[in-house]
Amino acid sequence: SKLLEIKGLHASVEGKEIIRGLDLEIGAGEVHAIMGPNGSGKSTLSGVLAGNPAYRVTGGSVSFHGVDLLSLSPEDRSHEGLFLSFQYPVEIPGVSMTNFMRAAINAKRKYFGEDPMPATEFLKLMRQRREIVELDNRLASRSVNEGFSGGEKKRNEIFQMAMLEPRLSILDETDSGLDIDALRIVASGVNQLKTKDNATIVITHYQRLLDYIRPDFVHVLYHGRIVHSGGPELALELEERGYDWIKQQVD
Ligand code: ADP
Ligand code: MG
Ligand code: MG
Repeated sequence: SKLLEIKGLHASVEGKEIIRGLDLEIGAGEVHAIMGPNGSGKSTLSGVLAGNPAYRVTGGSVSFHGVDLLSLSPEDRSHEGLFLSFQYPVEIPGVSMTNFMRAAINAKRKYFGEDPMPATEFLKLMRQRREIVELDNRLASRSVNEGFSGGEKKRNEIFQMAMLEPRLSILDETDSGLDIDALRIVASGVNQLKTKDNATIVITHYQRLLDYIRPDFVHVLYHGRIVHSGGPELALELEERGYDWIKQQVD
């Protein structure tokens, strides 16, 4: 079976239906890009998968490596291996990155009935994973995201992803506001973390990021549904032709 199977998903926010019968399947080892016009429901889909209480699921099912994802709390979804990188990362004053990561890792271990990670092993892991995103040690000792630049926040998110080793990562417009160097580092981090067992969903407006993170599949989300799918060449076509031809097919 697939790593992720979304069937007939419907979700609403404040009584308004945003996701309207969405189907999507993701296999282990795959990278999927989701593109689409503003307001089509891309961030809503990430929020629904992560369990953000602002969204109400009104129909459909989501199976995540055989687990009924929608029945889990947001924390347990994360423990089961779902990682969401936010379009706007939050700042957590007074909590250092080191302590934040230790708490996250040990909560996951506890969920699986394991003891906390020994301190030396944890610090070694921190060092090793920091290198993947070229994250400075000083950032790791500062409060989570506090006073970080846009690029540093995004890099920090990929660092968190590297630490947690998720089965499925959803990167929601991770490229917005990144200069080309930060983009390259973020993309290289994502590529280095890719294995045959995990998968990534890259939500983006721009083909640019997909030059660095090459997707196996590209989907267009419009009006709360996946209305068109293709290979990497679809991203280039969308960049060139825009979305009008897709909207016309659907409307
Ligand atoms: P995208 O990420 O594709 O640009 P979104 O999922 O952010 O689109 O938004 C889809 C629609 O849902 C928009 O019309 C947006 O205004 C609405 N929406 C999303 N989140 C909320 C919210 N928390 N409260 C009210 N409306 C929302
Ligand atoms: Mg948007
Ligand atoms: Mg969005």
